[in-house]
Amino acid sequence: MAGSGKFFVGGNWKCNGTKDSISKLVSELNSATLESDVDVVVAPPFVYIDQVKNSLSDRIEISAQNCWIGKGGAFTGEISVEQLKDLGCKWVILGHSERRHIIGEDDQFIGKKAAYALNQGVGVIACIGELLEEREAGKTFDVCFQQMKAYADAVPSWDNIVIAYEPVWAIGTGKVATPAQAQEVHVAIRDWLSKNVSAEVASKTRIIYGGSVNGGNCAELAKQEDIDGFLVGGASLKGPEFATIINSVT
Ligand code: PGA
Repeated sequence: MAGSGKFFVGGNWKCNGTKDSISKLVSELNSATLESDVDVVVAPPFVYIDQVKNSLSDRIEISAQNCWIGKGGAFTGEISVEQLKDLGCKWVILGHSERRHIIGEDDQFIGKKAAYALNQGVGVIACIGELLEEREAGKTFDVCFQQMKAYADAVPSWDNIVIAYEPVWAIGTGKVATPAQAQEVHVAIRDWLSKNVSAEVASKTRIIYGGSVNGGNCAELAKQEDIDGFLVGGASLKGPEFATIINSVT
């Protein structure tokens, strides 16, 4: 890993789980042996955050999967950053491809959310990534840089941001990027940060990979110089496998 922080592994539970299945997952995580030198975060659905906060070991921090763009109020169905803080969330995932491409959130909207969360003291797991057709058209870097620029234009500081590079074609498909493919984009993102933000931010910011990471492929990916951790979907729903991924730090 090249980012100067600790290895960072996030579990994105997406819209999965029930009180019972989440209670089982929490006990698996509580009894797992986890490398001490890794920041570990899980993102339960909003409605289970309180349950998880009250039962999960403090070793693991809690993230939300989304938040409202500003202060709460008359915004039916939304959850504000202040409410997330009240529940003990330290992080929020923003710009996930499912929110970009299924819900229709655009770069500027996501940038504003990131700025608001950071200003409230909540860390942002800032997702970026290209669609398959964009990769095939040779536009991977253009798309990632455009998404990076929207964050850079909006955020007050990079101190509390982790970038998650998640190629959309690899998310939930079982088609993981090869270590070389992931490394190539991570280097390009770091280079972009160096040229457009600062060399210091480029060297300090953790760039994690997401997209079909599992217990079998994590070790090879973790060996790559610029992969500073993972954002894990499906495999984070199984405690022992998620622990294997956490412990793949090299
Ligand atoms: P996946 O999801 O691990 O199931 O591919 C990753 C993500 O969406 O963050």
